[in-house]
Amino acid sequence: MQQFPCPFCGLRNEREFHFAGEAGKTRPDTTGKVSNADWASYLYTLKNRKGEVREVWMHRSCSELFILRRNSVTMAVLGHEQLRKDVP
Ligand SMILES: [Zn+2]
Repeated sequence: MQQFPCPFCGLRNEREFHFAGEAGKTRPDTTGKVSNADWASYLYTLKNRKGEVREVWMHRSCSELFILRRNSVTMAVLGHEQLRKDVP
């Protein structure tokens, strides 16, 4: 069983976490009209890169969101960052 590092709680079993999306996606500007296709793409289209990736994860025990850096091929955890709302 793999362990993920919650920046708030420390190392925990991966089953305590929920994938929340790829980091760095830009949310469509909802002050104007957004097409269904653009909104669906934002919600459901993943780049699914091979190698080092940055992903948003939620630790379900503390409900905090954070960025996990990992290698999608080896599944090695490379680090974590606190999620900042001013940096995509
Ligand atoms: Zn936590």
